[in-house]
Amino acid sequence: MSAFFKLLARNRLALGGLIVMGLVVALALITPLLPLADPDATDTANRFLPPLSDGYLLGTDGLGRDLLSRLLWGTRLSLAVGFAAALFAAVAGAAVGIIAGFYGGRTDNIIMRGVDMLMAFPYILLALAIVAALGPGLVNALIAVSVVNIPFFARNIRGITVGLAHKEFVDAAKLAGMSNPRIILSEILPNVVPVIVIAMSTTIGWMILETAGLSFLGLGSQPPQADLGSMLGEARSALITNPHTSVIPGIMILIIVMSINLLGDGVRDALDPRLKSGALSRPMAATRVERKERPAPETSTDAILSLDDLHTQFHVKDRIYKAVSGVSLSVKPGECLGVIGESGSGKSVTALSIMGLVASPPGIITAGAARLEGRDMLSARFGELRRLRGRRVAYIFQDPLATLHPLYKVGDQLIEAISCHRAISKSEGRKKAIELLKSVRIPNPEERIDIYPHEMSGGMRQRVGIAMALANDPDVIIADEPTTALDVTVQAQILSLLSDLRRERGLAIIFITHDFGVVAQLCDRVAVMYAGRIVEEGPTMEILRAPAHPYTSRLIACVPELGEGKRKLEAIPGLPPSVDNLPAGCAFADRCLKAQDSCTKGEIGLEGSGSRAVRCLFPEPGFAEETA
Ligand code: ADP
Ligand code: MG
Repeated sequence: MSAFFKLLARNRLALGGLIVMGLVVALALITPLLPLADPDATDTANRFLPPLSDGYLLGTDGLGRDLLSRLLWGTRLSLAVGFAAALFAAVAGAAVGIIAGFYGGRTDNIIMRGVDMLMAFPYILLALAIVAALGPGLVNALIAVSVVNIPFFARNIRGITVGLAHKEFVDAAKLAGMSNPRIILSEILPNVVPVIVIAMSTTIGWMILETAGLSFLGLGSQPPQADLGSMLGEARSALITNPHTSVIPGIMILIIVMSINLLGDGVRDALDPRLKSGALSRPMAATRVERKERPAPETSTDAILSLDDLHTQFHVKDRIYKAVSGVSLSVKPGECLGVIGESGSGKSVTALSIMGLVASPPGIITAGAARLEGRDMLSARFGELRRLRGRRVAYIFQDPLATLHPLYKVGDQLIEAISCHRAISKSEGRKKAIELLKSVRIPNPEERIDIYPHEMSGGMRQRVGIAMALANDPDVIIADEPTTALDVTVQAQILSLLSDLRRERGLAIIFITHDFGVVAQLCDRVAVMYAGRIVEEGPTMEILRAPAHPYTSRLIACVPELGEGKRKLEAIPGLPPSVDNLPAGCAFADRCLKAQDSCTKGEIGLEGSGSRAVRCLFPEPGFAEETA
């Protein structure tokens, strides 16, 4: 709640609206306590007195009534009616919307067609018709304004509810045996309340205006009772001769409606989590690169892809998340490099940085180089980067359902992946797509090419994802946890498929995972990441046999093995540190059983001999013996 007010306060206009609105409401609340003249007492001797007259601060109207008093009482009435109408419309509209959205089917149809019918009439015309039927009067004006605003709320809330009604947590509530009314109250309602509040805060001003409009036409408050609309209406005939009588209530209406609308927009922005996180700001085409120093020249020569001291950060408001700090990696053609680490250790950000796919803002690459055959990708122009994306370096992502477009057939999506990079005729594209599906071992590809992603199983979709990555015969494939969403048997098939492809085509693969079992099956070498850095690197078999970093050995201890008897699986207690506030020295120290005081003082380098390297002052005994 305090976060909400902080956000609201940061928005100057909304804060201004809040203050003005607060003053007006406070004034309306204390009106009965103020020493004001009777707003309805006429005094024909003092007609049309100008403002600042003796005893009449704002002057008098055509019947000699005190304008200040009428203004304050009128404001009070207009606010009350406006708020009441908004509340009524919101409650009724939300109820209608939730019922229609939640029950769906025929209920939804009948209710929403009724709502459509209401919406078919112009706003004010409908309100006029309702007042005409009920007879003039403030209560009837209130009813009319509420009713014409119900459709707005109903449609809004129904849309949200339809989306929620099929969510897993609602299914879970049904499975738990909850009744529908209870699900609506405990599961749906809390999720739509923010939307109701937003809709209300942006429409109250409008409703006050509509009520004033009806009163202006003489259909709302009846004489002698004053509200802002009727004051305007009565002053209409004296607009030229005594303008103050209409200007005063006019200014009040302007102040109220403007401050409410400014406040309403602020409330909407502060409550909408997407606006809060800046997700609606469009990311740039490629990650922003702001390197202070030119990267060191390339050292290894036989690598097809190499990362050199890569630093990628996220600058969110005043915090800096160092997601990747100084990662160096390389893969040769035909080689598979595993990158392993707990969730949040910076694996994905490393992989995405290579082709400039980290969203900017907030992502910035602050140092280092990513080289494809010696050419630095981070200094490449966007056009070049785009030619290489998918053509030379292809990605396979974790969730195949999210990567495939739900509305296009898989075949068309494969053909699109090809035609991005070279012109291809329709029949040729189809042939190639079938070939691709065949190469990822999808049975009867001639038929499968014409189905939609939702008609496939998870494993099948992931194969399509792989086929798409293979579409342009890339040299490097970066697979970011491609098997995490799959069950073990499918995972095994996908791994053997990747392994075959690597052998057949000489692909270089960077395989990201959090599972040492997967690394053991597929990768020649492995790099272990922790808190944005590589803590250990070396050939997979050697690392599995004699891990050097305590973190690696504990990761390996987490993997169950068949036929090992009842070994206790060791979880690693604690959580990785937050990357916006990394401790000095070893980031793993506070979870490490062997940590000493020296571990938390100063930088610890990645030291190694031969093919192995470790970032630890006290490597595991097995490793120490081997290198000694
Ligand atoms: P993983 O190893 O699980 O793939 P990621 O590379 O996705 O981890 O994330 C690494 C770190 O970067 C995380 O700790 C996360 O907090 C941070 N991070 C990722 N994306 C953003 C973002 N858009 N804004 C701020 N921090 C981010
Ligand atoms: Mg990831």
